[in-house]
Amino acid sequence: LVRLEQVTKRFGEHTVLDRLDFAVEAGRHVTLIGPSGSGKTTILRMLMTLTRPDEGTITVAGQRLFPAPEKQVREARKNIGMVFQQFNLFPNMTVLRNLTEAPVTVLGLSRDEAEERARELLELVGLSDKCDVRPPRLSGGQQQRVAIARALAMRPKVLLLDEVTSALDPELVAGVLDLLRDIARSTDITMLCVTHEMNFARDISDQVLMFDAGRIVEAGPPEQIFGDPEQARTREFLSAVR
Ligand code: ATP
Repeated sequence: LVRLEQVTKRFGEHTVLDRLDFAVEAGRHVTLIGPSGSGKTTILRMLMTLTRPDEGTITVAGQRLFPAPEKQVREARKNIGMVFQQFNLFPNMTVLRNLTEAPVTVLGLSRDEAEERARELLELVGLSDKCDVRPPRLSGGQQQRVAIARALAMRPKVLLLDEVTSALDPELVAGVLDLLRDIARSTDITMLCVTHEMNFARDISDQVLMFDAGRIVEAGPPEQIFGDPEQARTREFLSAVR
């Protein structure tokens, strides 16, 4: 469903990703781990078209995302939703409006259809009673649930999760991770997660990719990566974060 081929990304002289190849099949849950600065977030940002590669190709759901004409990029990116570390909700809109805005303006849903879907999603994330509240009045954990619901409101095929619990108070982390586990189990959505929560990565993933310095140093099922890693670099990283 997602394919990167020979993708290179540089910031000035610094090559952040070096001829990267990987593919994610539909319905899979893939987690990207590795030291800070190894390029994980840059991959998600390229898939969300927030930054562009310098070389290579990216394809999502059979549509070329890079390189591609602007109109095709807009179509291809409708397949992708993203949840950020810092929530990035619209602070001046109610929770309900946060969830209906893009479905109405981008997908062309009627406001009634969008609201019906938004209410279902707010029930899923346990925030049915917060429809009319504005995000700054919610806790970090609640805001992140709204952000997850907002991403799902676009019915993406692929959900990108970028360290979604890093900005949360410790007591709020488990609730958000439980919600994501539920979504992973109960939907056929494809997930790509960058996380420092190794237990979550172990639970949720079909495949774990260990990054270092812009390359994949090891890829495998979580039992291998966390239980019996082949590469010294993976062992070293895991012993440092555990
Ligand atoms: P973290 O876990 O800290 O988020 P990461 O593996 O996600 O790390 P990236 O955020 O992808 O790493 O960053 C990879 C490298 O690219 C880092 O060295 C970072 O400083 C650099 N970088 C990222 N964005 C930019 C930018 N807009 N301009 C210049 N350098 C950047």
